[in-house]
Amino acid sequence: MNPNDFRRHGHEMVEWIANYLETVRDRRVLPDVKPGEVFDRLPTHAPDTAEPFEQIMQDFEAQILSGSTLWNHPRFFSYFAISSTPPSILAEFLAAAINQNGILWKSGPALTELEQVTLGWLREWLGLPPEYFGIMYDTASVSTLHALIAARQFVVPDTRRHGARHDLVVYTSDQAHSSIEKGALALGFGEDNVRKIATDENFAIRLDLLEAAIQKDLTEGRVPCCVVACVGATPTASVDPISQVITLARHYGMWIHVDAAYAGPAAMLPECAPHFAGWDHADSIVMNPQKCPKSGC
Ligand SMILES: *Cc1c(COP(=O)(O)O)cnc(C)c1O
Repeated sequence: MNPNDFRRHGHEMVEWIANYLETVRDRRVLPDVKPGEVFDRLPTHAPDTAEPFEQIMQDFEAQILSGSTLWNHPRFFSYFAISSTPPSILAEFLAAAINQNGILWKSGPALTELEQVTLGWLREWLGLPPEYFGIMYDTASVSTLHALIAARQFVVPDTRRHGARHDLVVYTSDQAHSSIEKGALALGFGEDNVRKIATDENFAIRLDLLEAAIQKDLTEGRVPCCVVACVGATPTASVDPISQVITLARHYGMWIHVDAAYAGPAAMLPECAPHFAGWDHADSIVMNPQKCPKSGC
């Protein structure tokens, strides 16, 4: 595609996107397709020759859009909000155009420093102290996986040389997101070493049961490694007693990770701050900036 054709199709595409955003309300939220239908409509083999751009756009509307769940539809009330506001769509244009790789500082100096600066802004909005250093991940799940790696390294510093042990235990509640157990499984903690502690009538972790589980593991020769406490559990938006969990976990020498993936953005609201009291003493925190809870706190 030469620069002039790019210009022409680029303008057409901006028109298409603007029209889509204007009329998305008139479309269905859920597509009218059965499993396998889109797959069957698509060619089995890749085309041998290029197709005109107009054809590609027609296919996009007929085959792809018609088979897409519209997350930015005003009546989409499932899961979470998405971040494709008009400014962020335009930002994607620019990001794609210069397509940076942040492997090293030198491979993308501005990218690397922009990440640090903007995560510093986010940290300030969340009311977290300057000791917190931010990293942008593709998902909260990968962030929690990395927190569990840090926890293991913290509790057993020679893990890096000797590999994983099988007596380390991760504690969380029965309301916890599946990413915590998934991360523990991926790292080889083992299903038997993930404790999902029962919760109280507000779906917050029960401290007495947490401590009893820790005591039992110690008696049986296992090593408490990490507590993952939650501010804003996905099913109920419940909040664990963060300060008490941290005090307890510190007493047993554990790493504390706070999963605030869902409710984290609410920390920016002064009226929600009490729900986050004490989280600034955690060893690691994960939050999804785009996941603004739709209900109040
Ligand atoms: C959504 C959610 C996650 C996982 O987020 P991903 O970015 O999809 O990996 C983890 N924890 C909580 C509490 C969540 O609500």
